[in-house]
Amino acid sequence: MEKVFEKIKDSNTKRIAIMGGTFDPIHFGHLAAAENVRKLYGFDSIIFMPSGDPPHKIGISVSSAEDRYVMVQMATASNPYFKVSRMEIDRVGKTYTVDTIKELRVFWGDEAEIFFITGSDALLEIMTWKNPTELLSLCSLIAVARPGYKIEALKNKISELKKNYQSDIRIAKVASINISSTVIRNRVRSNLPIKYMVPECVESYIYKNNLYIDDKL
Ligand code: ATP
Ligand code: MG
Repeated sequence: MEKVFEKIKDSNTKRIAIMGGTFDPIHFGHLAAAENVRKLYGFDSIIFMPSGDPPHKIGISVSSAEDRYVMVQMATASNPYFKVSRMEIDRVGKTYTVDTIKELRVFWGDEAEIFFITGSDALLEIMTWKNPTELLSLCSLIAVARPGYKIEALKNKISELKKNYQSDIRIAKVASINISSTVIRNRVRSNLPIKYMVPECVESYIYKNNLYIDDKL
């Protein structure tokens, strides 16, 4: 198993929190949500897991896994509680959350608590993911309300999932920031500033590597 997980296991932690995403690019919305959840639930660490070949982004051009991974590494470097995993980006073929959680479950055993953090939009469409019922049986979900999505819709979805699948889903009441990677990519394309939306190192990386500009749309 990857070093980042070996280290956490050595520390005898039995509560693992994963923040999955495409992170194209990572922005302050992701970082603030993760830090708020960490504090609220008292996690020792949050593991950012950039997706490899995201199955739901078919037809949308996504930056290379390496570019996205580097940006996540840089953006999280200053927070000692944030860690980054290469597990999904190193997997060959399409990556599905259920396969990742299954692997982590085998590694930690039945007694560990595995939490997967999702924003409202991700939670609302979770039943379209691969083997959602299995996923819901293997981990708990922490839903972060995202600006622009009705909290009622989120609450209804959670009640439905709890009722139908006995899943453990909690809403994290955190102040969330209204930013999306889509908006950032579009702003770069339109030559609009992204300062104060992403960490400075991410902003520099985007410009230096011409991400989102000479488009592969
Ligand atoms: P895109 O616009 O490309 O879909 P995104 O901003 O939604 O990008 P993702 O990488 O798709 O970012 O999201 C990863 C996870 O972070 C998802 O669970 C998503 O709901 C959550 N998330 C993204 N932005 C925010 C935000 N501003 N506040 C809270 N959660 C967020
Ligand atoms: Mg998204």
